[in-house]
Amino acid sequence: MAWYLNYYSCGKCGYGWDDEWSNCNADECPKCGAQHCNPTRTDDLTFVVKQEGDAFIVYESPVDAVDDPNYVAVANCSNEQSAQEIVQQRSRRYWGSGITDSQTLGAG
Ligand SMILES: [Zn+2]
Repeated sequence: MAWYLNYYSCGKCGYGWDDEWSNCNADECPKCGAQHCNPTRTDDLTFVVKQEGDAFIVYESPVDAVDDPNYVAVANCSNEQSAQEIVQQRSRRYWGSGITDSQTLGAG
């Protein structure tokens, strides 16, 4: 499951907060209890790159993560650019299952 950090803004009382989810879920306002607040912005946290010593470690939230990102290290790179390339390559697996690509595949 891809992992997201969602930013919410309550349409009723104006309170803003953020929360991490395995989906772009609607949430409940922690201040006034209004239901079904939709995220105003979403950050994709499926992949994160962390520098550890001289290495850049690529972490990925696995598909079975639901309540927690459960990050696993998927690559160990010597520089940040390589790490970002790994992220790009692996991200395509997610975007590759999107509607646009399946239409392309269906036509072929
Ligand atoms: Zn509210």
